[in-house]
Amino acid sequence: MSEKFDVIVVGAGPAGSSAAYKLAQSGAEVLLVERGPYPGAKNLSGGVLFGRVLVDLIPEFWNEAPIERYINRNILTLMTEDATLNIDFRNEAFSTPPYNGFSVLRGKFDAWLAEKAEEAGAALITGIKVDAPLIENGAIKGILAGEDELLADVVIAGDGALSTLAQQAGLRDQPQPSAMAVGVKELIGLNRSIIEERFGLTGNEGTAYGMIGYPTRGVPGGAFFYTNLDSISVGLVMHIDHCSEHKVSPADALEEFLAHPFIAPLIRGGQVLEYGAHMVPEGGINGVPKLYTDGMLVVGDAAGLGSNNGFAVRGMDYAIASGIYAADTIITAKEKGDFTAATLSQYEQMLENSFVLQDMKTYAGAGPLMKTQRIYNEYPQMAADVLDQVYTQQSLPKENLLKILMQARKDSKVSFLNLGKDGWKAVKSL
Ligand SMILES: Cc1cc2nc3c(=O)[nH]c(=O)nc-3n(C[C@H](O)[C@H](O)[C@H](O)COP(=O)(O)OP(=O)(O)OC[C@H]3O[C@@H](n4cnc5c(N)ncnc54)[C@H](O)[C@@H]3O)c2cc1C
Repeated sequence: MSEKFDVIVVGAGPAGSSAAYKLAQSGAEVLLVERGPYPGAKNLSGGVLFGRVLVDLIPEFWNEAPIERYINRNILTLMTEDATLNIDFRNEAFSTPPYNGFSVLRGKFDAWLAEKAEEAGAALITGIKVDAPLIENGAIKGILAGEDELLADVVIAGDGALSTLAQQAGLRDQPQPSAMAVGVKELIGLNRSIIEERFGLTGNEGTAYGMIGYPTRGVPGGAFFYTNLDSISVGLVMHIDHCSEHKVSPADALEEFLAHPFIAPLIRGGQVLEYGAHMVPEGGINGVPKLYTDGMLVVGDAAGLGSNNGFAVRGMDYAIASGIYAADTIITAKEKGDFTAATLSQYEQMLENSFVLQDMKTYAGAGPLMKTQRIYNEYPQMAADVLDQVYTQQSLPKENLLKILMQARKDSKVSFLNLGKDGWKAVKSL
């Protein structure tokens, strides 16, 4: 088969489907190709979508999208083997439109977004793996999938964190382990009323935990725990290079985390509905490759767009934003009838001017900070030791807080210099 489209989008994740939707709305002939049996089948995500950018594409999307709960309570937990310290932030402003974040299940959410693209006029084919871009004289002219050769003015590579398409087009190298994390996740089914009672939720309110310390066993990364309507998304994100260095298996670490005395009661009685593992780009702003060439744009995870500053894992909203900017760029290119890198470079400019690359620059220091070993062992333990002293009441005279702090610092063996340096790094990079 040899057919010509205006645009072929590879990958029906949030990035690809957003681009396909906007392009189809503009009247472009769009083919959206997904290797999974349906969009979202192969996608895994902790699942808090920061949805403000989606409003630009689908106003009041929460009225029709399969969202689970709106998140109005965020909890940052420092965890040791037997203690937890929570910073618990609940905000009523997050409970009203346009909301701040939503828990979503990707099997449902991605399928819905791809369906929106179809309704707008894009053709969706599933169960087809794109093997390579079709390259002629250094320009991308379409895709190769099995026996088929499909032509297009522009190909959008939205094929996720490992993006073989962007690699084959010469836009990026094979990802290095130092720039990648692995996410392991379980979806645990639990009765809706139990979830609401256990987490103090009313209606569609939801809670999102980000956890640091014990869960990743000294490996840079963290744990997430999100409430859905009648399930919990729980998992770990761990830097790959450090997993081998520390000889920690993410699957084992997840099992131990789920058995933690703080976590086990929260999931008691639940049934594991899904288990999966997926790559997460963690290269930060330095991991963003070249984003365009003649006839091709790279979006979402394929373009290394993501940030993790300990408070929030973001990737879906960056993916949607990049899909929108890619579509806008192609609409301009179509008007000019020029699909060369010179015109497509507008995409990079749009990303540069947007929250996506600006946030990634703001959090440029978060990556190195997250690799500071003391965050995972010494600091959670120090915090637990201080609070242990504060709350433990014995028939002995108590020390004042300054003495308790000094003693905890001394026991932790963290020097004043390192404490000061880490504090400064944290304030500067978060
Ligand atoms: C454990 C975990 C937790 C996360 N938590 C959050 C979170 O809470 N909030 C957040 O915003 N982000 C989170 N992320 C990140 C988020 O999931 C990604 O940033 C987001 O999915 C990127 O979207 P995308 O469309 O670029 O890529 P993807 O969602 O990966 O979609 C790529 C699509 O391309 C398809 N594909 C790949 N290769 C081919 C091919 N050759 N041919 C055809 N189709 C192909 C895939 O099947 C897939 O459907 C998390 C990620 C993980 C792994």
